[in-house]
Amino acid sequence: SCDKNDKPKEVGDNPLYMNADASIEDRVDDLMSKMTLEEKVYQMCQYVGLEHMKEAEAKISPEELEKNDALGFYPGMRSGDIGKLAEQGKVGSFLHVVTAKEANELQHLAQKSKLKIPLLIGIDAIHGNGLVSGSTIYPSPISQAATFSDELIKEGSRQTALEMRANGMHWSFTPNIDVLRDPRWGRTGETYGEDPFLVGNMGVATILGLQSDDFTGTDHVIACAKHLIAGSSSINGLNASPTDVSKRTLFEIFLPPYRRAVREANVFSIMAAHNEVAGLPGHMDKFMMNDLMRDRWNFEGFYVSDWNDISRIDIWHHVAKDFKQSIEFSINAGMDMNMHGPIFDNHLIELVNEGKVDIERVNYACRKILETKFRLGLFENPFIDEEKAKTVNFQEAHQKNALEQARRAIVLLKNQKNILPLAEKGNGKTIFITGPNADNQTTLGDWVSPQPEENVVTMVEGITSIGEANGYKINYFDSGDRSKEITQENINKAAAKAKSADMIVLVLGENSFRHDWKRKTTGENIDRATLKLSGNQMKLADKMFTLGKPVIVVYVSGSPIAEPWLEQRASAVLNTWESGAFAGQATAEILFGQVNPSGKLPLTIPRSVGQLQMVYNHKPTAYIHKYNTEKKIPLHPFGFGLSYSKFSFGAPTASKTTFSGVDDKITVSVEVSNNGKVAGEEVVQLYIRDNVSSYTRPVKELKGYKRVLLNAGETKTVAIDINAESLAMYDKDYNFVIEPGDFTIMTGNSSADKALQSTTISVENKINLDY
Ligand code: BGC
Repeated sequence: SCDKNDKPKEVGDNPLYMNADASIEDRVDDLMSKMTLEEKVYQMCQYVGLEHMKEAEAKISPEELEKNDALGFYPGMRSGDIGKLAEQGKVGSFLHVVTAKEANELQHLAQKSKLKIPLLIGIDAIHGNGLVSGSTIYPSPISQAATFSDELIKEGSRQTALEMRANGMHWSFTPNIDVLRDPRWGRTGETYGEDPFLVGNMGVATILGLQSDDFTGTDHVIACAKHLIAGSSSINGLNASPTDVSKRTLFEIFLPPYRRAVREANVFSIMAAHNEVAGLPGHMDKFMMNDLMRDRWNFEGFYVSDWNDISRIDIWHHVAKDFKQSIEFSINAGMDMNMHGPIFDNHLIELVNEGKVDIERVNYACRKILETKFRLGLFENPFIDEEKAKTVNFQEAHQKNALEQARRAIVLLKNQKNILPLAEKGNGKTIFITGPNADNQTTLGDWVSPQPEENVVTMVEGITSIGEANGYKINYFDSGDRSKEITQENINKAAAKAKSADMIVLVLGENSFRHDWKRKTTGENIDRATLKLSGNQMKLADKMFTLGKPVIVVYVSGSPIAEPWLEQRASAVLNTWESGAFAGQATAEILFGQVNPSGKLPLTIPRSVGQLQMVYNHKPTAYIHKYNTEKKIPLHPFGFGLSYSKFSFGAPTASKTTFSGVDDKITVSVEVSNNGKVAGEEVVQLYIRDNVSSYTRPVKELKGYKRVLLNAGETKTVAIDINAESLAMYDKDYNFVIEPGDFTIMTGNSSADKALQSTTISVENKINLDY
């Protein structure tokens, strides 16, 4: 490493760092030795893409632009200026470059700079490369979690990496492994739900899919675990507002997915969170970023700030006196890259020269960013073939995976008198469809730009295509959007049209699709003060129920809907989440029985917002007492989901009853039978309770699951392993240990007590896990 006063070496004619045969370490060393302090700091700067910026500029008046920082514009900064910075080698990374063409243009600019360091281009490709039009849109993360199918999610992520690379993007700001503890948070659909184990599994699968083992070559991207930490549990459900959880809760609930993302999947970047925890903004939390992640859990990658959040240490949190001091605090805590906004570089250079930030921090950050670019093969070829991108996007294998995810994600919540599946022969019966999410791209979820219509199967399209083929008549009426457009007039019209129908399909829910900000009812910075249906949707539903016909409710929403009264009156309720490009097809296949539903809830659906915090893995005293005006049970428990098959379970048996060392393992077996008339998939779930412990432990925690396909009449034995991590907890000194005593092992098909049978295993002596 070099001192800040070391003179950089001449670049020379054929520098070693440009030699693809040299080792990555040698190439990084060589390049570092030729960089000035300034050039190293520039690698730590990320800016938003030019097209994105131009679009935003066009929406804002020049006066507003001068003072507005909400979009990250500092006074005087314009899209054109950023292009110039790229040309001068003053940018390390871009985000939200949304076309292959722009990716190439920016790389061309960077190639004009002295060192010719390619740009690292990041994007929120959280369920497919959705901000790029023409990509495969997979179900959103909450839907993915509902599949309980890690391998399928991993494969989808691998495909996403291919689509990203084909379009010139190298870094996905996913997975969001925030453990969701408050569904008022508008970003619920971006999460994998409320359970640390499921969130961890989905996170690990996503990272391994995106990065593979070491993201070397041109088929992979780097992943980004976010947001460190606990923004999914703010005190009032609002985004970026304070979180005030205990250290114990951090270690037991929020941190395990990060520990696993680092240890099991070597995630190469982590994003800090907007929020503070117990008075400390995430962007300056040295304990989290450095001591815990780097020193204890061996995080080997780099940190990126969230959007403008270093500056917010000062302007939002008021714990630094200005932007420069915010940078000092953040970089010294372990931050490596600033997401969007100028001046950062000037301040950081000054801070190093003044001795307030050690040059080694800059060296570290720069090395990691360069290492990433070398491993991704960007120095060999920073450009992409724009024509080829079109053949990679939305290719058949990717469509198949997206459809399969949707089929497994959809959760059947109610099926009165087995009204579903609908009879195979329609015999001219009429299905009337209405509701705000019936015939648009709301099903795609958040972080998606409008997609070509021919790439998306809406609910109406899916139901019409299979319904008509089966001999049904489909009659659709556009109720209008939930906010102002579901007028009384529209409700009356819908009722008049529904009168002649045999049954009604109501497609309700929320909207996180970002094409039209005004219509969004959930998403980042759009949090919910109630979990009820927004706008006039209940009025529409009320009217439909008065017609005396079967009403099948189809929810499209990344967040849970708490409408017990509606569910009571509906004949069937299908929670389809935001199941992506093929939502309409998968939903129709389930309605008409071509696919047997098998999705399970990755979060508890409460009956009302007043019941929050409501999670299945609560502490023993959570429900000792009761409410005066509300039940203390949820509307639907975590892990729940109906099927057209009828499954029954035997009691679990353990391969042995004593667990006795860090490397030990116990296999739990359970017999599952399909007593129904059709083949179906069931998700066998295993929960553990630590019966007596030095600190209170949850009443049960998910520690394993397996999806199993059973033909009608078939029985299979399903085996799930328990390892040391399944039994461990943090002791009083925050060592990860297994305390001696008994553990109850429960298996079944939901977290509800009545769905579970149990056995006991025990641990004789304390076991230390080394992490
Ligand atoms: C979000 C991040 C996202 C970033 C870039 C932020 O507002 O919190 O999750 O990756 O924007 O789009």
